[in-house]
Amino acid sequence: MGIADSGVVHGGQAAPDLFITGAGVAGLWLTVKAARAGLSVMLVERGNPGGGASGGFLGALMPHSPERWNGKKDFQFRALMDLEDEIARLEAETGAYCGYRRVGRLLPLSTERARAAALGQIDEARVNWGGRFNYEVNHTAEVENWPDILAAPRGVVHETLSARISPPGLLGALLSSLAVMPNIDLRLGTSVVDVSPDDHTARLSDGSTVSYGHIALANGVDAFPLIARAAGLPAHALGSGVKGQAALLDAKASPDLPLVYDDGVYVIAHENGHVAIGSTSERDFDDPVSTDESLDEIIKRARRLCPVIKHAPVIRRWAGVRPRAIGGDPMLGPVPGAPGVLAMAGGFKISFGIAHRMADVLVAEITGSERPETPMSFSVEYHAAKASGKSSTG
Ligand SMILES: Cc1cc2nc3c(=O)[nH]c(=O)nc-3n(C[C@H](O)[C@H](O)[C@H](O)COP(=O)(O)OP(=O)(O)OC[C@H]3O[C@@H](n4cnc5c(N)ncnc54)[C@H](O)[C@@H]3O)c2cc1C
Repeated sequence: MGIADSGVVHGGQAAPDLFITGAGVAGLWLTVKAARAGLSVMLVERGNPGGGASGGFLGALMPHSPERWNGKKDFQFRALMDLEDEIARLEAETGAYCGYRRVGRLLPLSTERARAAALGQIDEARVNWGGRFNYEVNHTAEVENWPDILAAPRGVVHETLSARISPPGLLGALLSSLAVMPNIDLRLGTSVVDVSPDDHTARLSDGSTVSYGHIALANGVDAFPLIARAAGLPAHALGSGVKGQAALLDAKASPDLPLVYDDGVYVIAHENGHVAIGSTSERDFDDPVSTDESLDEIIKRARRLCPVIKHAPVIRRWAGVRPRAIGGDPMLGPVPGAPGVLAMAGGFKISFGIAHRMADVLVAEITGSERPETPMSFSVEYHAAKASGKSSTG
């Protein structure tokens, strides 16, 4: 393996091959994958694992629409295909349960136009989803009131690729996995304050400085300023946060029910009869973790959409901030002009379905093994070009 030279932690300790910032779904998958590949890893998290956007409970694993196929859709599709085996391996290794199930998804059709568009996708799905998954337009859903027939006057799309996972279940399994690996050093309650690409060091909030072979900036929305600084760009050039609010209901619903998605509202049946509902999308917000009347509105719409949950009590309300890179796609790979610095950010609304594959890309980058195909639009250069285009047009 072509592993980069490691420096030394100031204080005499051996420095890690890979230093990772942030223990969300991105940083945790990367830690596990890098350690499996034989790299020594230091993972630094400012609070507790799952303290950021990954601490919710929605867990939808939904593909992009099958038409106008491109590199991003292909990357996500392959990731969604692989995830089943990845989860099986993780569960076998740890004995933990990730709450993963490929239940499919229903999309109610309310207009003739939506129905015509859906019919047009059937062939696209056959071609682009490799013939393994169905995309059908049916008259009605199989289960009464999931969704309401009134919400689907022109029928309902039923696709069989979508799945769901329990975010806390997955994070717990990843933590169990890394707990037994000897080559991982996990530091909780410590922030990365600054990165110096020139001398391969990072400064931590406890006053120490760590040398590394590579550093992966995977700390959610807070990765953007670190990546931008390393690339010599203004702090807010490369991405920002989009707040989302979600609710969990005790609906005594079957865990086999398919996801329902309609115009920004997701309804997802999990284990224990729980149903998760999401989400708002807020670019402007004062408090990143509060919930308010915009969540009440989503809950109301979800109850109308799926009367099965009409009277189910809300047992949890939650909000988090999704990392969204300037170019819209995830941001993954080397940071130009900053040797040894890697970006792993911007999973926005799809991180739970792709983080394991993003991790594979970075591990391959470090070890020189075969790299999963990654679209140009994920590169830091691409996002930086978007940023400069934006600033030149004001
Ligand atoms: C309401 C809502 C619903 C969602 N639903 C879905 C869904 O159904 N499916 C899906 O795939 N995605 C969903 N998402 C998006 C998904 O949750 C995020 O894309 C994902 O969690 C991002 O993971 P991350 O690891 O990149 O960032 P985070 O989970 O935010 O993790 C970053 C971590 O870095 C730590 N950190 C920050 N700064 C520092 C620092 N300087 N030093 C050390 N540590 C630091 C933070 O404490 C945090 O733990 C949803 C998001 C929201 C808000």
